[in-house]
Amino acid sequence: MNFGIIGGGAAGLAAAYELSRRGHTADVFETAPILGGQASTFTIGGGQLERGYHHLFRSDRDMVQLIREVGLEEHMGWFESKVGLFHGGRVWPFSSPLDLLRFSPLSFGQRLRVGFWTFLLQNTRNWRKFEDITARDWIIGHMGDDAYRVIWEPLLRGKFGDSYNQIGMAWLWSKFRLRVASRGKAWQKERLGYPLCSFGDVFDAVARRIHEQGGRVHTGTTVEHVEVSNGRAAGLTFSSAEFFRETRQYDAVIATTPSYIFPSLVDGLPADYVNQLRSARYLSAVLIILALNEPLSDVYWMNIADRTTPFLGIIEHTNMIDPGLYGGHHIVYITNYLSRDDPMYDLSPGELLAEYLPHLRRINPGFDLGWIVEFHYHKVDGAQPIIGTHYGSEIPDHRTPIRNLYLANTTQIYPEDRGTNYSVRMGRQVARLALDDLA
Ligand SMILES: Cc1cc2nc3c(=O)[nH]c(=O)nc-3n(C[C@H](O)[C@H](O)[C@H](O)COP(=O)(O)OP(=O)(O)OC[C@H]3O[C@@H](n4cnc5c(N)ncnc54)[C@H](O)[C@@H]3O)c2cc1C
Repeated sequence: MNFGIIGGGAAGLAAAYELSRRGHTADVFETAPILGGQASTFTIGGGQLERGYHHLFRSDRDMVQLIREVGLEEHMGWFESKVGLFHGGRVWPFSSPLDLLRFSPLSFGQRLRVGFWTFLLQNTRNWRKFEDITARDWIIGHMGDDAYRVIWEPLLRGKFGDSYNQIGMAWLWSKFRLRVASRGKAWQKERLGYPLCSFGDVFDAVARRIHEQGGRVHTGTTVEHVEVSNGRAAGLTFSSAEFFRETRQYDAVIATTPSYIFPSLVDGLPADYVNQLRSARYLSAVLIILALNEPLSDVYWMNIADRTTPFLGIIEHTNMIDPGLYGGHHIVYITNYLSRDDPMYDLSPGELLAEYLPHLRRINPGFDLGWIVEFHYHKVDGAQPIIGTHYGSEIPDHRTPIRNLYLANTTQIYPEDRGTNYSVRMGRQVARLALDDLA
């Protein structure tokens, strides 16, 4: 059978790979000139780096399995990660239970209370009981007002902006579970994974396998329309410099575009379904990436628990990965998740950097403009779905109202937070679902 796949990110490539390895033909269409979607890469310091910081957790078995299947397992490394929390003008180590006990902005009793509930959350499997309560209400009710105000509220605000007090506890629970999954035993330090060839090379290797298995992967090619005949998906119309405008017939189509794009590609979708898709809310990731000739800190992942700082976090990639991969430079992401109506969303790269610079000096008073060797800016729309309470009941099915037309995007990943692992898992699952339906 022939399949058309819209999107050459983790989900679309995994779907095409799964279909082609089962003997079917799959064509992938990616509008960007390169593969990988949100996990795509660019060149910095002579090396390849993701536009947004990327790592894997120990529990990310589907992604690790795909890396193995395309022959890149030897590039996979697991590294100790160092977490910090910027609060009250200093960086507090926040990697272990002992670090929490030393976190003096909270009273000793409050620290014990946070530790107790963190332990319980990490060891709770039944997330459904968190479906109907916001993270804010749960944290205040269990860990207390001060813990919420000092640690969690700035983090939720940073990640979800004005929607911070609507986020469901099930989402926050999944973050606690991930941390424990990456630690192994409670006393062990967290280890995070990274393919040293970059995620970009992983996706290129998947594309090569799809080709070898009889499929085609077209970058720089935009799907304009899903052709529907007698209530069934029948083909795709796409355009690019190479194809100009062409229509190909398919037995089924899998779309991996964000929910707000999908309805514009298909005629005849029922109004209530379109409304369901359009009600999905997303934030954009806005990233400044610096190559520095000095390290900014000694922490890999720095959460900013300080409302006067205009960004959510600093990920110093080279505090986990060898700077030698990037010409010896220290790679620092300054990250924010913004709604499109946030004034910072429209700032030019230079304006945004100017906004951030004084705050980098608060984190490291020695920071100097002369340290900056390269400066990059990336904006990723549709990066983070906003996950409220009762989110499970709002998720659209992978089968759409049009027969043989499937949707597989990040809004359908729950209760886990979106991630390459879950997109790979979903892409492969939806491929199998489509095959079962067509059998
Ligand atoms: C800043 C940031 C940090 C992240 N950190 C991590 C991390 O540490 N670990 C991790 O595992 N994950 C991380 N993620 C998440 C991860 O990158 C995504 O969840 C995953 O890559 C999503 O893959 P996808 O294929 O589902 O969607 P996407 O990557 O969004 O792919 C969809 C593709 O469809 C294409 N497309 C859209 N419309 C059309 C059209 N009409 N025609 C053709 N193509 C079209 C898009 O260009 C895009 O490439 C991060 C994401 C961001 C933004």
